[in-house]
Amino acid sequence: MSKEAQQRMEKIVSLCKRRGFIFQSSEIYGGLNGFWDYGPMGVELKRNLKDFWWRRVVHEREDMVGMDGAIIMNRAVWKASGHEETFSDPMVDCKTCKARHRADQLPKKDGVPYCPACGGRDLTEPRAFNLMLKSYAGPLESDENLVYLRPETAQAMFVQFKNILETSRKKLPFGIAQIGKAFRNEINPRNYTFRSREFEQMEIEYFCRAEDGLALTDYWLEERLKFYEDIGIPRSKIKIHDIPDGERAFYSKKTYDLEYEFPFGVSELEGVAYRTDYDLSAHIKHSGKPLEYFDDEKKEKFVPHVVEPSAGVDRTALALICEAFDEEEVTDEKGNKEVRTILRFHPRMAPVKCGIFPLLKNKPVLVEKAKAIAASLRPHMMVFYDEAGAIGRRYRRQDEIGTPFCVTIDFDTIGENGPEKADTVTLRHRDSMEQERIPISELRARLEAAIF
Ligand code: ATP
Repeated sequence: MSKEAQQRMEKIVSLCKRRGFIFQSSEIYGGLNGFWDYGPMGVELKRNLKDFWWRRVVHEREDMVGMDGAIIMNRAVWKASGHEETFSDPMVDCKTCKARHRADQLPKKDGVPYCPACGGRDLTEPRAFNLMLKSYAGPLESDENLVYLRPETAQAMFVQFKNILETSRKKLPFGIAQIGKAFRNEINPRNYTFRSREFEQMEIEYFCRAEDGLALTDYWLEERLKFYEDIGIPRSKIKIHDIPDGERAFYSKKTYDLEYEFPFGVSELEGVAYRTDYDLSAHIKHSGKPLEYFDDEKKEKFVPHVVEPSAGVDRTALALICEAFDEEEVTDEKGNKEVRTILRFHPRMAPVKCGIFPLLKNKPVLVEKAKAIAASLRPHMMVFYDEAGAIGRRYRRQDEIGTPFCVTIDFDTIGENGPEKADTVTLRHRDSMEQERIPISELRARLEAAIF
């Protein structure tokens, strides 16, 4: 990472802590590597992201349904899916400092890999390290009671395929969507929340006929690019990596990785994979249950193929923050130059939609009016009432958490400067810092149009 990129990342991490987006998990006890907590702003950002994804891929489509599966499933699921056997990274240990690293990510000097922790070259042969976190369900810590915390949400959608098909009465092609936690015992959690041990996924399993699989993979790639655009990540910032033959999972006929240009490098946000009929066939074989699809019209029975767009909530939230982060030099009313830190979130992703300020906190009529406006907007969107400090300072605080709009209630609002200005407020725009005067009666509709 260049020095500049490193500084940018440090500023982002510090802003996220300072303004309540992301905290280290168990911080007062020294934290826990690979685990993070989202604070009041972070949880709103993630919620906006998940809600919008759900709206786009479930509510706005006729061919999709949702589900919410358990994190812990019968161990047989992970045997059938191949995770118990093969969900592992090849690892090497440094014999000098005992650090463990992924074999495929070791730095090299003159073609020889070395330990990134101590520089030592005395490394063990690569060994498989299973990434699934274990626990026990039941009173005994026995092999029979061994369970895994799911490393992906996908499998629940395969094993419930038949139940969902029957209860939803969908016809091919149709999809199942799910958002939920996943766990991987990543050996090197790093790059902030990018590689965590506990994270959330937003996954789609889109079932189809074999002959439509490849075309639908391209279709979903396009849909997903549109989604990122609609949350404020332009196409120009996403690199599409068409995984070549030989590098894809053996069952996949096509896989695209969507990668975002993070300050720490171009890295995967989402994978769109055509997984053929591998998953359903594996579960048919291992469970002995029929998971085939019956086409009523053609009187045909077959195992559907599947296209899987699989995205990470935390990685997308981090991309949103990195994309939104900006600093610009501005001149205040007194002619002093200062740096304005802004998160330029798309209004639909912004944690707080509107800041609401009475011009002066010691004027009860202004305070009352401002509180009444805040209360009238609260059922419809997240607003933040603030009466502390100069208006300029209050704007800056909202800029730093990415609030797209601020409203100021002043003496015009309460009719002190004539009836024509009564019941109007100043609406201030985050990015341009422009201010306009609008009637209170239009406020809600204006804000809702921007955040929908
Ligand atoms: P990587 O190669 O970065 O480990 P992957 O290819 O193993 O990722 P998938 O198994 O395709 O990832 O998982 C789908 C999505 O889940 C990823 O695109 C990513 O957004 C998210 N994801 C996977 N592992 C993690 C993790 N450790 N921390 C945060 N998000 C993750």
